[in-house]
Amino acid sequence: MGGLYPHNIAASFKPVRSWQVPFPLGASLSPAGAAMKALLRLLDQKLPATPAPVVCKCVQGFPQLVQGSLGQALPLLAAEGLDEDTFTDNFHNEIWASRTYLCYEVEHPGQGSGIPPGQEKGVLRNKSDPDPMLSRHAESFLLERIQSWKLNPEHQYRVTCFLSWSPCADCAQRMAEFLGDNRHVSLNLYASRIYSLGQYEQGLRTLKRAGASIAIMTAREFEHCWDTFVLHEGRSFQPWEGLDKESQKFSETLQSILQQEA
Ligand SMILES: [Zn+2]
Repeated sequence: MGGLYPHNIAASFKPVRSWQVPFPLGASLSPAGAAMKALLRLLDQKLPATPAPVVCKCVQGFPQLVQGSLGQALPLLAAEGLDEDTFTDNFHNEIWASRTYLCYEVEHPGQGSGIPPGQEKGVLRNKSDPDPMLSRHAESFLLERIQSWKLNPEHQYRVTCFLSWSPCADCAQRMAEFLGDNRHVSLNLYASRIYSLGQYEQGLRTLKRAGASIAIMTAREFEHCWDTFVLHEGRSFQPWEGLDKESQKFSETLQSILQQEA
């Protein structure tokens, strides 16, 4: 599939399905923001298990034309921003959520970084499928994306991730291996909640030993995420009650996990 955010939709690109997304009337968002939000919700409901071509053609006032495969559609759209509800539903540290969202940003040397324009930051999500072989975790999309950039080993890159769930044991292992193979990339992870299935504790320790920094999101990181990745239409982040308390609890748990011997 071609580049991101093309300014001209390729003529040869033929959608296999089409949906119309009406502009919600009377919404508090601008028409563009409201349409983006509606589109994100629609794609969220209709994302099939296997990628299929899709073109999202949007009418006047829409900020960007987007094309990609359905498998890519959410990451593509999310590069524009998460809608407010998706952010809150998934990052709220008192609520269990079935999905994992990963917001990332990369500090890099600037020109010649090798990172395609628009990909210095973005939002990725896990993709679940009844067939476990087809399920993918958000972290694996991130590693794949970074590897596709073919970063210059002469430079240093710092990737900061905000995760709605901390990495599972497999992802932690993969990220640790990635860091071992890519000394020019450093990884700072902030998680809203601790994912606690399988050998997750071991995984987190392995990741830390590989050089990653791992911490729990505090109000500061939630606000930064909101400001950076959410289509907030100028509204500021409103911390929920209990945010600090939960954050503190998770942080203590994480510290005790990381301090334990392997
Ligand atoms: Zn995982």
